[in-house]
Amino acid sequence: MDAIGILKQLKNKGVRFTPQRQAILEFLLQTVSHPTADEIYHHVKANFPGVSLGTIYNTLNMLKEHGHILELSYGDMSSRFDGNPQNHYHVVCSKCGKVVDLHRPLIDMDQEVMEKSGFIILGHRMEFYGICPECRQGEQFN
Ligand SMILES: [Zn+2]
Ligand SMILES: [Zn+2]
Repeated sequence: MDAIGILKQLKNKGVRFTPQRQAILEFLLQTVSHPTADEIYHHVKANFPGVSLGTIYNTLNMLKEHGHILELSYGDMSSRFDGNPQNHYHVVCSKCGKVVDLHRPLIDMDQEVMEKSGFIILGHRMEFYGICPECRQGEQFN
């Protein structure tokens, strides 16, 4: 579904449809860079100079609560946002903080974890940490 489709669906649930919200969601659906709220703000500001960081955060929280985007939090670093709400794996650069998608099927361990922990497993999150090709250039990490 595109941004307009998602926002029309949310409008039926009483969420206000604004051009700023459309711009935020369109950016998240089109980018693979997993931007921070700040990066989204600077991108949207180019077309909507009046947009505030508060509007960005409100919209991101609203989209997250409705399950249309993912928030990836990293302790003391800024959260990053993902326009793909399906569970998938990420590779994170420990140097520059870049986050890229890892395209592979999900690991099927829920049953095993359930048996070992006694928990009902609702999902899992997995991330790989390393140094990206750009950061490796000119430096030795091996
Ligand atoms: Zn890097
Ligand atoms: Zn992703």
